[in-house]
Amino acid sequence: MTAPSLQPLEVPSPAYICPFDQACSYLEAAAKQLKLDGGTISILSNPRKVITVSIPVKRDNGEIEVLAGHRVQHCDILGPYKGGTRYHPAVTLREVSALAMLMTWKCALLGIPYGGAKGGIAIDPKRYSVGELERITRRYTSELIKNIGPSVDIPAPDMGTSPREMAWMMDTYSVNMGHAVPGVVTGKPLSIGGSRGRDMATGRGVMICVREALADRGKSLQGTRVVIQGFGNVGSAIAILLAEAGAKVIAVSSGAGGVYAESGLDISALKAYAADNRRSVVGFPQGTPISNAQLLTLPCDVLIPAALENQITEDNVNQIQAQLVVEAANAPVTLSADQSLTKRGVTVLPDILANAGGVVVSYLEWVQGLSYVFWDEKRVNQEMEHLMVQAYRQVMTQSQQQQISPRLAAYSIGVGRVAIALQDRGLYP
Ligand code: GLU
Repeated sequence: MTAPSLQPLEVPSPAYICPFDQACSYLEAAAKQLKLDGGTISILSNPRKVITVSIPVKRDNGEIEVLAGHRVQHCDILGPYKGGTRYHPAVTLREVSALAMLMTWKCALLGIPYGGAKGGIAIDPKRYSVGELERITRRYTSELIKNIGPSVDIPAPDMGTSPREMAWMMDTYSVNMGHAVPGVVTGKPLSIGGSRGRDMATGRGVMICVREALADRGKSLQGTRVVIQGFGNVGSAIAILLAEAGAKVIAVSSGAGGVYAESGLDISALKAYAADNRRSVVGFPQGTPISNAQLLTLPCDVLIPAALENQITEDNVNQIQAQLVVEAANAPVTLSADQSLTKRGVTVLPDILANAGGVVVSYLEWVQGLSYVFWDEKRVNQEMEHLMVQAYRQVMTQSQQQQISPRLAAYSIGVGRVAIALQDRGLYP
């Protein structure tokens, strides 16, 4: 199968690992497992809509900068397109396309009635003022106005965006429609229809997967030594929840480096330190400085990459010492590294399962909004936990029964559900 010819926006370096080609390889492996026909594979490997818009923005100094914003809608066979909006300098159309495809399989695997999409703008949000970010977000939303909506495509936060950006998106959309439309985004502030529990949801889902995987090995979170790469929304939530459950978080990093403490880091103190230091953990006094590269190869029980793609590659895979790798980020382990780890008997819990807690609570937020009934946090967490544990069990059962990796099992379940729905719906015209 050849990947559709999406042009990356920048010239890739020789070491460039194309995220879209990787996503297609995972689809191909699942398709082989499911014995899908070539036509079905072609439909599923091509995003349905690829949208790039130009975003002219007036900087605070009066200069005009024109940014490119993307939204890729991969598949809406099971329901409205769903997926986050990423603000990060490494955003490319290929990356957004890959992440949109992952959303399709993630939603199908979790049994929630959505398709997959992703959006992104290649900016470093730290280099823009709040006013500039608001103008960028509003113009991006307005350019996409005909392509999003509560039953069309529902954006949510992703790396570099938060409830604040979702509120701007919701407001821009609503003003243009002439009435409030809270369902156009999820991950909103509580004041405009957000869900309790959404802020910690991705981290909670990761914690549930780690807990279940340890239980399968006759172990508990108590005293388990965990290393987490990334201390953003997701990484920090994972650290807090795991530490609360008794795990020992021995190392954590943010973009510029990390900290290590063999006896376990004080996560509340670390969170407070990062909040005062532009979200960086570097220089935290109660730990030893460590580089991101060293952090990944530390001896530990569980390694949780919760930052960017392609962090565990052919170059460092042989030094990974964890027995359980849990992908809180999207695609942090490359295809070949994944194969090496699996061969060595290391369990890798794949992104479309491990980080699905966020989109699950997005779904619960959407359901609460549509029914005008809002739940307390306990109810939200219970509903999410049920869907996460169910998906985890399905993946592990399939992995054991078919003697395949949890990743292949997860993809086979997700892709398989979409393929059946495609067959049942048939092809128009
Ligand atoms: N950005 C998150 C993800 O990649 C959440 C998406 C959503 O809630 O729609 O899963």
